[in-house]
Amino acid sequence: MTRDFQANPNLDNLLLRCVGCGLCLPHCATWAATGNEVHSPLGRLVLLDDLLKEPSAANRDAYADAFNLCIGCRACEAACPSGVPFSLLEHGQRLTSAGIPRPSGLMASLIRRLDSPALLNLLRIAGQLGRGIMRQVWGPGWRRRLDTAALGTDKLVRLLGSLPTTPMRDEELVRQLDLLSGLNSTDSFGVMALPQNHREVFFFSGCANDGLLPGTSRRFIELLKTVGCRVHFADNQQCCGALAVHTGQPGKADLLKRNNLQAILPMTQSKEDDPEIPIVVEAAGCGLHLKDYGPEFGNRVLDAVVLLDDLPLPPMRQIPLKVVYHDPCHAWHGQGIYAEPRRLLQKIPGLDLVEPLEAEMCCGSGGAWGMHHRQMSEELGRRKALNLACTRADLVVTANPGCLGQIADGLAMEAPDLPILPLTDLLWYACQGNQ
Ligand code: SF4
Ligand code: SF4
Repeated sequence: MTRDFQANPNLDNLLLRCVGCGLCLPHCATWAATGNEVHSPLGRLVLLDDLLKEPSAANRDAYADAFNLCIGCRACEAACPSGVPFSLLEHGQRLTSAGIPRPSGLMASLIRRLDSPALLNLLRIAGQLGRGIMRQVWGPGWRRRLDTAALGTDKLVRLLGSLPTTPMRDEELVRQLDLLSGLNSTDSFGVMALPQNHREVFFFSGCANDGLLPGTSRRFIELLKTVGCRVHFADNQQCCGALAVHTGQPGKADLLKRNNLQAILPMTQSKEDDPEIPIVVEAAGCGLHLKDYGPEFGNRVLDAVVLLDDLPLPPMRQIPLKVVYHDPCHAWHGQGIYAEPRRLLQKIPGLDLVEPLEAEMCCGSGGAWGMHHRQMSEELGRRKALNLACTRADLVVTANPGCLGQIADGLAMEAPDLPILPLTDLLWYACQGNQ
């Protein structure tokens, strides 16, 4: 049967852009993990083409598997010289997942509720306690030993191991970074320069940062205020809805969007000659999702790293550390944020910024994806951790809570002595003691 080109003219035009060069393949994490063509961007496009040509002949289950396994990292889109859009793969996902019941069971139901800061807060405490106990019992290699112990608790261990974490208390963060860099902050801790720079910003906290990394959010806001920003908040803001989309709850995602538009838009609209207030987001995944709310809202969304790069930060102190930055896919491939974090890190005197192999490849987190595809996600996390550790860096930094937890879990397996922190925490530390 030949395809009816009139039925899907837009899709056909987009599909025809693919020239089959295969340049996207080496950037695709799922293809790297399985080596199977149908788990590559090109393979998925071929399946989509088949599906559109002969919908009745397609083996839906096999096709659904191939599309479900796509992380949505968009590394393929960024690498494609022909401009084949990621929306084609999303279309394939929609076509093949229609009518398939969403995952059930206790773990699936827990994952669907991970947009609650209160629940995340509880998990943060449980994760910290659990990891602390396991480290006491098994030492720094606890994660690997637990992995081979076959206790039947793999999913739970994986969930607890990959929850992002960073010191809650400032003193704890300073102590950790002092130890690593050989500095002694006791005298200067808490003192920062205060340049005059007035700017209005709205802070969108996001549930993962709110529930899991409250110390990081607080320090980031402190940093903004220190450089003269007036930071606005909305008490009734809600989750951006990305998790609801990823877990097949479109109705919930729409409701969250409507509520956020109602709560935030009026606070960020321009008054008379004032410019519109940017909506600053710490988590790259939330930022990308919020940009899809539509131009009126989306054009105001600004990643925290981009804002910091644009602000005149206080002079930073010397930090003699070798640091490697992990690019979150939703920042680099989704929003084109690449130079900003590097420029920020290079502003820190004495810091040696190094680049890892396969920098463009997803770490295997993908929000809910990593929890539904535990084994492959874990493999990708370990692969990323090894690439980062091979740089011989003293510290890994990143700018998305999902990547932070995923890589922490990979490092616990492959390089337990290599720490990982949010980029803004390192910047906050670098800005201490400059008065
Ligand atoms: S890089 Fe673009 S054109 Fe080349 S195979 Fe991949 S999707 Fe097709
Ligand atoms: S979005 Fe990521 S996982 Fe999906 S096909 Fe593209 S590169 Fe592969």
